[in-house]
Order: sequence, then C-alpha cells, then structure tokens
Amino acid sequence: LETTYLDHAATTPMRAEAVAAMLPFLTDNYGNPSGSHSVSRAARKAVDDARDSLARDLACDPGEIVFTSGGTESNNLAVLGATARASGPGSVVCCAVEHHSVLGAVESKEGTIVGVDGRGVVDLAALEEALSPSVRLVSVMLANNEVGTVEPLSDVARITRERAPGALVHTDAVAAVACLDAARLASCADLVSISAHKFGGPKGIGALLVRSGARLGAVLHGGEQERGRRPGTQHVAGIVGMAAALGVVTAEREVEAERIGALRDRLSKGILASLEGATESTAAETVPSIFNARFAGIEAEDLLLLLDQAGICASAGAACASGALDPSHVLVAMGCSNDEARSAVRFSLGWTTTAADVDHTIEVVPKLVEQLRS
Ligand code: PMP
Repeated sequence: LETTYLDHAATTPMRAEAVAAMLPFLTDNYGNPSGSHSVSRAARKAVDDARDSLARDLACDPGEIVFTSGGTESNNLAVLGATARASGPGSVVCCAVEHHSVLGAVESKEGTIVGVDGRGVVDLAALEEALSPSVRLVSVMLANNEVGTVEPLSDVARITRERAPGALVHTDAVAAVACLDAARLASCADLVSISAHKFGGPKGIGALLVRSGARLGAVLHGGEQERGRRPGTQHVAGIVGMAAALGVVTAEREVEAERIGALRDRLSKGILASLEGATESTAAETVPSIFNARFAGIEAEDLLLLLDQAGICASAGAACASGALDPSHVLVAMGCSNDEARSAVRFSLGWTTTAADVDHTIEVVPKLVEQLRS
C-alpha cells in the first residue's frame, strides 16, 4: 500500500539538503559551540553560518535570532519572556485560534483572549477593545495551522502601536513559513516564531526572531548561550538542518506555493463537487497548503481511520490535540457546533505532494464518506 501523505501541517518529510547538512554534526563534528578549542570552533562556525543564512531568509539581523527547541518553546518564550516583569490580568492578549502553546501561556498569565469571525479571522474591533497602555504583548498568528486562515497581522500591529504602544507584537509563523513569504508578512512583528519540522527541517529545533530593541526576559536559567536569552547547549545539527531547509524553501517558495495551491484547489473542487454535505471550513484567504472541510453526518475520527487503512494520512486539526475527544478549539471559536467541529478533516499538502496524491484522495474520500453515512 502506497502512502499518500497529506499531513504536512503536522510535520513534513525532511529535505535531502537538510539531512546532508546535518550529518557531519551528528558524526565527526561533535563540538560544543561554546568552547574555545578547535573542535568547538568548528561547531561554533557552523552555528554562526546557519544563523547568517537564516537571517538572510528571514530578512533580519543574525543577532535577532534565538534558537529554541521548536514552535512550542518559541511561543512560550515570546509570551512569558515579554511578560516576565509584568503581571496581572490583561497584560497579554491573543486570539482564540492560536496554537495551544500560545493560548496556554497566555492563560497562565491571566491574559485576554479575543474572538474570531466565522472565517477564523481575528476580530479587530474586539482586539482594539482589549488593548490599553498596560498591555505588554499581543500575539496573533500569521496563518492558522488547522484551517489555514491568514490573519491580518499588519492591522493587528497598527492597532497595537496605537492603543498599546509599550506592547510587543508576536506572531506564530510556524504554519506560514512553508508557503508564505513570512519575512515580509511578519516584518511588522517584534517577535516571530518558526519551527523547522514544518518546512522540511528536523523536529526539535526552531527559533524566535527577537527584533533588536524588543525587551524580552529569559524564561530558562543557565548559561549565556543565545546572549542569555535561551541558555543551553545549542542543537548544532538541528540548527544547521533548519538553515538548509529554509534555504531551499526560500529559493523555491514562489513556484512551490503556486504548485501546491493549484493542487489544493484541485483537491477541494474534486471533493466538494462529488459529495453532498461537504463544506470548506473557512471562506477566508488561506495558506496554499491547507484544505479543511466538514463532512455532515460523520465523525472525522471514523473517516481518518478508513483513510489510514486506504493509505491516506490526514488529520482532524492539530496533531497535538488528536486522540482527544475535544472538538477543535479553532472551529468552535469560528462558531461551529461541537458536532460540526468533530466532522472536520484537514488535508495539508507540501513539497512532496503530487497530482497523483490529490487524484487518489479525490477518488477515495467521497466513497468513504458515503460508506460511513449509510
Ligand atoms: N504553532 C503552530 C501554528 C503549530 O502548528 C505548531 C505545531 N503543531 C506549533 C506552534 C508547535 O510547534 P512544535 O511542534 O515545533 O513545538
């Protein structure tokens, strides 16, 4: 049985360039980049080169990049670091469709969570309402990882500068980097989270871009790595692999985003046309890679099981939440009932996706949905 992998929003297969770049740092080149002898210096040079390369691709200064263990840590560092010296309800604001790593951190700070409309777009009037000069951080993602909605980040930043001039703007760009020009779209943000495994790099490595001038307290205590902003021996191989992956993604992005977007459109048209009671989950502009649809009368978990038996890998919203019976917080925030939310499946495409994958899925999904309904 051949695998049709349509779960790139959960994680991506690694780019060969990333694997090749990493191998020397998993074998001969094992130095600790903080040391001073030759073995350390070789590792240090690799980290420096990777930082330079990432900075070019993210249109920032190398010194603005803080390496972390991934998107979850970057998001926690942004929220908790920006509010390290502030406390009290309302000092941090995010929107309701954020990843749990933002939502949970914001909730731990008794922050304010503003709603979204039926397309998953942050309610800018509610955001404005929630802002005041005491707010330290506003966090709105660049693109949603479940339904794909692209958020109006430049509006968020503009409103924040007006209403809460002391606040930092953070954006979780984890779901955006593979297909969108995150460097340009997030240029209005002070803090930007990325995670390598969502764009062809390894798992367990990511970065928080901290613009110079943005004051961020450390969350972890330890050494002086990453200028004291994130202590701990750097994951040299991961850093090198992430830089290699982003290099490929940046070089290919325009062409790939168009190719993937065309495949996504073909998938959505193919499925929606041949099936009654199937609805795209959002009417908003989305990342080119995500197609999320609700199938009336079925449970996504049942469909996913049958799809898996047919070799098709998709998911019901975020991987971290699947297995749990809770309906997606994203779809519920968008106004879906629990039953509607439980009927939604996310197909997410990426650099390995082919027309054959899409055509196979168009053939299989309607049959399985009908089978479950009858
Ligand atoms: N933010 C978003 C939007 C995500 O999709 C994910 C991964 N599900 C994360 C953050 C967490 O990233 P990581 O898996 O690297 O911790």
